[in-house]
Amino acid sequence: MKYYSTNKQSLLVDFKEATIRGQAPDKGLYFPEKIPQVKKEIIDGIENLSNEEIAFNVIRPYVAETIPEERLFQIVSEAINFPIPLVQVNSTIYSLELFHGPTLAFKDVGARFMSRCLGYFLKGENRKVTVLVATSGDTGGAVANGFYNVEGVDVVILYPSGKVSPVQEKQLTTLGKNIHALEIEGSFDDCQQMVKQAFTDQELNQKLFLTSANSINVARWLPQQFYYFFGYKQWVDKDHPPVICVPSGNFGNICAGILANQSGLPVDHFIAACNANDVVTKYLETSIPIAIGIKPQTTIPTLSNAMDVGNPSNFARILEIFHHQYPDLKNKLSSYSISDDDTIATIKEVLEQNNYLLDPHGAVGYLSLKKYLKANPLTKGIFLETAHPVKFPDAMEKITGKRIEVPSSLTRIMSKEKKSIKVKNEYNELKDYLLRKEVKEK
Ligand SMILES: *Cc1c(COP(=O)(O)O)cnc(C)c1O
Repeated sequence: MKYYSTNKQSLLVDFKEATIRGQAPDKGLYFPEKIPQVKKEIIDGIENLSNEEIAFNVIRPYVAETIPEERLFQIVSEAINFPIPLVQVNSTIYSLELFHGPTLAFKDVGARFMSRCLGYFLKGENRKVTVLVATSGDTGGAVANGFYNVEGVDVVILYPSGKVSPVQEKQLTTLGKNIHALEIEGSFDDCQQMVKQAFTDQELNQKLFLTSANSINVARWLPQQFYYFFGYKQWVDKDHPPVICVPSGNFGNICAGILANQSGLPVDHFIAACNANDVVTKYLETSIPIAIGIKPQTTIPTLSNAMDVGNPSNFARILEIFHHQYPDLKNKLSSYSISDDDTIATIKEVLEQNNYLLDPHGAVGYLSLKKYLKANPLTKGIFLETAHPVKFPDAMEKITGKRIEVPSSLTRIMSKEKKSIKVKNEYNELKDYLLRKEVKEK
């Protein structure tokens, strides 16, 4: 399997090279040359397969010969070694709970898979890689946790100061060792912009080997397909495949779902659930690509902060899947933009009526799905519950009037000391830091 760049100005690479590089040299995103088809026996017999077997079969063609089968099976098994249950909320809506991993958000699977692949690729090679990553909230924690102590890898995380929740901040600033947290005086898009600039800075890239652990990296993006197969495995009415609704920010997760569907997984329709950051919603309403990849929008801070993205990188991959054919895209994908007020009202309503506690991201997903099902009766659906409500204890208490019980893993982390370096929202500050770090370590 080879990968090309969505900008079409870079050479083809294999999975190993795409993982090590992150972004293509022409600033495009790597995309598989061919979308492999999952065997019909796997879809038809999915209920009899273990999650490990399903995941292995899905990812195998993408990794191809770059990792031996036995090793790949082990990596996959470690990446998904926690429950991913489908929970019924009411008569038409189900929640696929992706928050049972170590950092309590769905990004654990991708981060754990990528860190193990990168660790495998760098073993025995004399190159040290610096993983540079921008986070709007949950990526940082998942990447820090996944890469902690991985040999040959140094991690530098950029996060917007004051715009991540206290739990999220502790998850990325308390590990130490090979994990470094930079607190940027700006928004997530500023962080992402700085990271992107670093990848294309020739001087910097001559001095150190940089790669990305954002969902632009294929090793983080592709394993997210697993969720959709696991959801389908637990879906009872196989004659009527589910509508799947995904709380979306950078659009990596939903793009992986659409890819799974293209490779043979039955899905009735996809919904991108967005908060006030609604470029894609607007695009699907008007067909005018207002800002995606062209003119960065300013980010609007919301309650569902991991989705506060004004310029979603992975939308380029969604366009690629549909060969840039707007009617085909529109046929498979709808989008809703949900306000903070409606997010709060939804959390209250679902708690009262169904005794189910949504987190703000899941609430945006739930309400978007509900709106779609209302307009399309006779359908049923799944929304992805992407984070544990306990990651947002203050917001949740304000909304529900109740304190959520905090798991002991979190109380432990909350008592640890935060270690971060404050950095101005200027690219040169990041560059200086990276160069100084490199010199210190030599
Ligand atoms: C990252 C994140 C999202 C958005 O996922 P994308 O793949 O960036 O669209 C949604 N919810 C939570 C809790 C997240 O951490």
